[in-house]
Amino acid sequence: CYFQSQEIAAQREALYQTNNRLEKSLSLLRATLESTADGILVVDNEGNVTHCNQKLIEIWDLENETTPIDGDNRILEAILNQLLEPELFVSKIGAWHQQSIQESNDLLTLKNGKIIECYSQAQRLGEENAGRVWSFQDVTERKTAEKVIHYQAHYDYLTGLFNRKQLNEQLAQLLEKASDEQEQLAVLFIDLDHFKDVNDNLGHVLGDSLLQQVVNRLKQCCRQGDLLARWGGDEFTMVLPHIFAREDATAIAQRLLETLQPSFELEQHRVRITCSIGIAIYPEDGQDTVTLLKNADTALYQAKTQGRNDYQYYTLGSNTYTGEYLALENSLYQALEHEEFSLYYQPQVDTATGEITHMEALLRWQHPQLGFISPGVFIPLAEQKGLILRLGQWVLQTACAQAVAWQSMGLNPIIMAVNLSPRQLWHRDLLETVEQTLDRTGLQSQWLELEITETAAMQDVDLARTILLSLQQMGVNIALDDFGTGYSSLSYLKQLPFHTLKIDQSFVRDLLSNPHDVAIVEALLTLGRRLNRRVVAEGVETIELRNLLFTLQCHHMQGYWFSRPLPLKEATQVLMQNSQTVCMNR
Ligand code: C2E
Ligand code: CA
Ligand code: CA
Repeated sequence: CYFQSQEIAAQREALYQTNNRLEKSLSLLRATLESTADGILVVDNEGNVTHCNQKLIEIWDLENETTPIDGDNRILEAILNQLLEPELFVSKIGAWHQQSIQESNDLLTLKNGKIIECYSQAQRLGEENAGRVWSFQDVTERKTAEKVIHYQAHYDYLTGLFNRKQLNEQLAQLLEKASDEQEQLAVLFIDLDHFKDVNDNLGHVLGDSLLQQVVNRLKQCCRQGDLLARWGGDEFTMVLPHIFAREDATAIAQRLLETLQPSFELEQHRVRITCSIGIAIYPEDGQDTVTLLKNADTALYQAKTQGRNDYQYYTLGSNTYTGEYLALENSLYQALEHEEFSLYYQPQVDTATGEITHMEALLRWQHPQLGFISPGVFIPLAEQKGLILRLGQWVLQTACAQAVAWQSMGLNPIIMAVNLSPRQLWHRDLLETVEQTLDRTGLQSQWLELEITETAAMQDVDLARTILLSLQQMGVNIALDDFGTGYSSLSYLKQLPFHTLKIDQSFVRDLLSNPHDVAIVEALLTLGRRLNRRVVAEGVETIELRNLLFTLQCHHMQGYWFSRPLPLKEATQVLMQNSQTVCMNR
């Protein structure tokens, strides 16, 4: 009896100890379950929820559901309801169960956009499966950050286009394909002309907005399968696979130039921008990404030096061209001595009478190795290097002398229009220089018109007024050139003495298609009439434009439709014909 009771006591003690241990491990389990950062859900073999922790309630937003009790599966339903693809998940669970898969890992996307990572493990009791333990983690932030990083690594943030890295990868793949299929492919380098001016004048925010608008238009020129990427800044790259002939690339390049022609609206500003394009063709101009991109870039340089707003194909000579372009600056210094400059003359016509009333002197540079170089390229360079004063003086002298020569040939006198660069305008010797040149050549001041761009004059309206007044007193005519491009207010205009207002080509170009431009031109014409100024439309290229302008009562015009800028001999012939017509008219 004693032993018996001792045994019972020992058994009780053991039971107590076991209970104690069990309780301890249960409480440890509970504490672990509640302290983990994961949401935990335990499901038995029948698919009934047996446990879950508070974190699970939070992750799945289940506060309103009843606390799970054995056999209550509303919590599972609530979870499934939130999934974007619940059926897929259910079928996966079925498969894991059937194949007795011990561990699983998955990403769940919720209808509200959250991303939940879920891990599950089979719960074993000895050899038997007793159910499954699920743990869930909200990884939305991490996944979103990963997505952003991936995006930034492959795409340009501002425009959403491929970035340089991604372009290189894609181009490499397209080249492999082109090689397999023995096809040609074109790489286009596109660079916006004078984009920096927009940034400088209107600020980076509007500059960025312009880039986005430009991209939208460029995209519209892409065929299916073409690739457009932002190379950086205002440079873009386009890859055209499946090119059968160069003409295919030419057509797209032309489309790109055209699509930028209509102006862009940036808040209250209207901005025009053009681009230059360099083209290299696989396999002719290069067989790998590096060579093709380099050669397209070289061709782009060539397009830039030849006056921008155009495209150029890479040619074998292009490489030496780039090298020489760097030396352009040096050769500019020698060009005057070597007499590489000449003047071309472009008529201005009074369409009411059909007479040429003015000739504009336009500078040309024939470089011995590089050939013709556009004034759009070398004038800014000469301006930067301070060479413009000497060059400008040469132009003024030559043009005035030519006007006198034409008069002494007995031709009807015309007014000689000469462009002045901003540096010349602001130079303290300007008045003296003009006076001396008129004296030396013997040209009467009424036959000279000096063209000053609107932008230059607006840099310092007060000073400009003083200078222009002195010139006017001397009897010289003043024209405000490129009018409308300076973002300036028309009220300043009244403060400046001038005779002629030249409406910038960009407003004339789209006149037939753009009612905005018609409104602007009409406003300028009204203004000109009210101030009693001569208004000239520049860039008149077609008869339709000529007629439209005529109906708008703009009678003074200049442009390719009447005549391109002509070398001396041809200009003289045109003036001889003009004199005859004038005689007949009288
Ligand atoms: P600008 O003063 O506005 O000269 C008119 C430009 O428009 C010329 O370009 C002329 O060839 C071009 N043009 C004329 N009619 C048409 C047309 O119907 N359609 C098109 N698309 N273009 C036409 P160019 O000769 O290339 O001169 C470009 C600019 O270089 C001139 O613009 C002027 O700002 C500057 N420039 C030219 N010669 C001189 C110069 O002697 N001194 C200075 N400071 N600048 C000059
Ligand atoms: Ca001009
Ligand atoms: Ca002009």
